[in-house]
Amino acid sequence: MRVALLPVAVTALASLVLAHAAPGASQPGPAASGPSLLVIVVVDQMRADYLTRFDARFTGGFRRLLDDGAVFDNAYYPYLNTVTCAGHATIGTGALPKSHGAILNQWYDRALGRPRTCTEDLSATTFTYGTSDTGRGHSAAALRVPTLGERLRARSPESRVLTFSMKARSALMLAGRQATAATWLGDHGFETSSALGGLRPEISRALFASPMQAAHDEVWERLMPVDTYTGIDDGIGERPDPGWTRVFPHPLAGTAPGHFHNLWEESPYSDAYLGELASTAIRDFQLGQRGVVDLLGVSFSATDLVGHSFGPESHELQDTLLRLDRALGALLATLDRVVGRDRYVLGLSADHGVAKIPEAERAAGRPGGRVPLGLVRSTVEQALSGLGPGPHVARAEYTQVYLTPETAAKATAETLAPAIAALKAMPGLQAAVWNRTLDGPVDGVAPDVLNAIRGSYDRERSGDISIVPAPYWFLVLGSRPDGGDGTTHGSANEYDQHVPLVFLGRPFTAGHYAARVSPADLAPTLASTIALPMPGIEGRAVPLTPARGPQ
Ligand SMILES: [Zn+2]
Repeated sequence: MRVALLPVAVTALASLVLAHAAPGASQPGPAASGPSLLVIVVVDQMRADYLTRFDARFTGGFRRLLDDGAVFDNAYYPYLNTVTCAGHATIGTGALPKSHGAILNQWYDRALGRPRTCTEDLSATTFTYGTSDTGRGHSAAALRVPTLGERLRARSPESRVLTFSMKARSALMLAGRQATAATWLGDHGFETSSALGGLRPEISRALFASPMQAAHDEVWERLMPVDTYTGIDDGIGERPDPGWTRVFPHPLAGTAPGHFHNLWEESPYSDAYLGELASTAIRDFQLGQRGVVDLLGVSFSATDLVGHSFGPESHELQDTLLRLDRALGALLATLDRVVGRDRYVLGLSADHGVAKIPEAERAAGRPGGRVPLGLVRSTVEQALSGLGPGPHVARAEYTQVYLTPETAAKATAETLAPAIAALKAMPGLQAAVWNRTLDGPVDGVAPDVLNAIRGSYDRERSGDISIVPAPYWFLVLGSRPDGGDGTTHGSANEYDQHVPLVFLGRPFTAGHYAARVSPADLAPTLASTIALPMPGIEGRAVPLTPARGPQ
């Protein structure tokens, strides 16, 4: 049973750090009245409409953001691959995937002849806090553009950059290649990477003073009376992880030994824990309190894990948001009290949205479905059989089809035409494009779809052909037409691209803003509050003229 996840004892790694904790005095500090702490909050898998749908039910952090924040109602990812690594890298760097290079959670590495994750770094080692465990490394070495945190540390090396998430890719892409520490949940506890900064990981004993194991016997129930939740609990097509049913209550221990780790992570308890870790870090590392600007990044993951299993209409997702509202409220209260209400600036966004559960949509007479990647692959193999015996496809990795080197060498508009036609004819795909033709117009592909493909395109890492899911359809692993999670994201459709973007802090005027913006604008907007230049990115500091006043 994997419950010894978070031993309270902390390794020598951590104690070494405490010796380094003295603040430097010689570095350029923040302006006397300017922000001393930049805060990035990401909610993993949060659609823009969640803010409006649940507005009346928020009383905590989301309430504060809606009432006192600059709320951008039209923030869209302008690219195709709306997935976690790409979104966090976009928020962290202010650049688009075509520039920062983290195009997917995983892509096919042609040189290695195998897929690699966006954080894979064989030169790095991963340490699990409180244990002597080390593992294969993760880092943000794949990034081709520095993050806001890296630029901050380049200007003032004493600046501390700390990020927290349940996911390695989220913590690392917010932090970058240089940071004080990025912390995420691995298989055996919270981890960090040897790659960061060449420093000892700065995590103190107090950070892990409330081990998650204490929640082992907790049961996740709805926070509020059942009749305040919209829709039904037992929704069509919900696919909970082993140990849970489709309806409340959800015991965190599940039904068998070994369930707890995943179920805790998938519950709002992990969000609350992460908020506490961040609050502890603010105090222990004196973030924003040392005469130098620091950066804190927090990516809450439970909304994504719950959303994949239960869908965006579920009681579980609603409850996770209501509880995140409280966790976020507690984090803001710490920031107000410890750093000072006027001394931090905060930007909140999401890494992507999500589709509704297609089976529930179809039962209601609306479109929706799943496109198995195994079928994508076999469709291309068959369509290209005239080119020789094959195989012609090296890998179908999400929206990217990678041809074998032999077939890629024969690729022309004519030789690939049968594959493009066959893919376009597949149910659930609205477009298929040979990536070599992305420089110009492509017949039969809408300009906005083409721009979305370009936004995710990296010549070295992308495939040879991009496929684009039709509205309400998504890609799933395997060959089964009913495969995959309850639902997912990762398309150029509105529900995947449209996310919240809210700023809070003294430089921002409360209200709703109608300008069309992007989560790539988050980092340069925070940077603008401390006059930190961020050249070489697509994001821009947002325009600060509200369309309508506070509501
Ligand atoms: Zn995500």
